[in-house]
Amino acid sequence: MSIEKTEVLVVGAGQAGVAMSEHLSQHGIAHIVLERDRIAERWRTGRWDSMVTNGPAWHDRFPGLAFPGESPDAFVPKDKVADYFVAYAQQFNAPIRCGVEVTHVQRLQGRHGFRVETSQGVIEAGQVVAATGAFQIPVIPPLIPDTVDVMQMHSAAYRNPGQMPEGAVMVIGAGSSGVQIADELLRAGKRVYLSVGPHDRPPRSYRGRDFCWWLGVLNQWDAEASPGAEHTTIAVSGAYGGATVDFHRLAAAGMTLVGRTERFENGALTLAPDLRRNIEHGNSNYLSVLDEADAYIARNGLDFPPEPAARELLALPARAADPLLSLDLKAAGITAIVWATGYAADYRWLPSGAVDDNGKPRHQRGISTEPGVYFLGLPWQTRRGSSFIWGVWYDAKYIADHIAKQQTYLNYVPAQQACPSTPDTLQPLEKA
Ligand SMILES: Cc1cc2nc3c(=O)[nH]c(=O)nc-3n(C[C@H](O)[C@H](O)[C@H](O)COP(=O)(O)OP(=O)(O)OC[C@H]3O[C@@H](n4cnc5c(N)ncnc54)[C@H](O)[C@@H]3O)c2cc1C
Repeated sequence: MSIEKTEVLVVGAGQAGVAMSEHLSQHGIAHIVLERDRIAERWRTGRWDSMVTNGPAWHDRFPGLAFPGESPDAFVPKDKVADYFVAYAQQFNAPIRCGVEVTHVQRLQGRHGFRVETSQGVIEAGQVVAATGAFQIPVIPPLIPDTVDVMQMHSAAYRNPGQMPEGAVMVIGAGSSGVQIADELLRAGKRVYLSVGPHDRPPRSYRGRDFCWWLGVLNQWDAEASPGAEHTTIAVSGAYGGATVDFHRLAAAGMTLVGRTERFENGALTLAPDLRRNIEHGNSNYLSVLDEADAYIARNGLDFPPEPAARELLALPARAADPLLSLDLKAAGITAIVWATGYAADYRWLPSGAVDDNGKPRHQRGISTEPGVYFLGLPWQTRRGSSFIWGVWYDAKYIADHIAKQQTYLNYVPAQQACPSTPDTLQPLEKA
């Protein structure tokens, strides 16, 4: 039986795979995109029910299509984001095959390319792009044994407050997911504890512009990775029409804030004494964006309305001065824990040369150390925006350009090995 062949095989049809397909199509490079579920499945079924984008519709999209039927300033519900990528892929007839999982990729022996094993047979491809993204495997730190009588779930499994048992909830992790879930639970009448680590929290908007605009004009989305910067969580939210994430306000509304969760022993969580430091760091980040925005406005002579109230922060939550350092789950009535502790990657299906000893991609700007393998959608792949909707499109272009360049080299045949030139082809040169 003959084996199907393609120039490039793209694994995953989330936003990364769709962007990759668009750029490969523009280069006229034959390719296939394999998706084990449906296009943009994670937006459809991997998020909580009420989730909306963290950035407004004018920003959290690809250049080639606006969100149909949405105000540019709206925060788009997750299902509409999934619909958007389906429509986007239809626009250029992306060669996406859904329901096909890639299980193994292996270099062909003695010739160019890879043997790709899938749930529906083998394909040979010249290059492979792993567009499976940064948010693959939900990570729950192994702190609390399953035998402890408390419901534990990752934020990826959280859907709505109705899932929670009677009693208080502890949300661990206060990035965009953790803080939004904690807020939703509080609004639903739950008693909520939130474990807050180091974070950035830019203002939702300032002097009439959304923070996405500010981070754009201040060139922060295009900032390249610097030591430490990659690890800082950003706490932002488009929920309820969009508001600045403000831990002071959440505490004032009745949420109990605690520092980082460190250990679990004898029914109690040990909490780091770092709540005050983390909140103050978040506040400095918030104020630094206001400062940079003011300086930008002054430098460019812009007529943006002043907003002095943005600098008036509520008092630090009382808990920041007197932090809880131990929390006995039973005594506090905590019956559920939501771990908003992020995701890990799984590239075991790729050739071993593409990953390091910890399974992390070995690459430069998405170009793997294993020639012919590419990564897409990684956090800080080329810059801060890389794992987000508006950033991955540019990284996909970079990779498609690289593949096209490589193909030019591969297709080059020295003149003396090519067919002898005919007088016709020489004629224009002679005339010139
Ligand atoms: C809770 C949350 C909220 C977010 N909100 C925003 C936001 O508001 N704005 C924003 O810009 N970004 C946001 N992001 C970040 C990012 O935009 C999304 O995570 C986005 O889904 C990443 O797209 P992706 O294509 O890189 O990966 P994914 O969407 O994860 O797509 C990867 C695809 O690969 C498929 N796949 C995996 N392995 C295989 C295999 N072996 N074979 C075949 N198919 C495979 C998966 O089924 C999946 O469909 C958010 C992330 C999270 C976790």
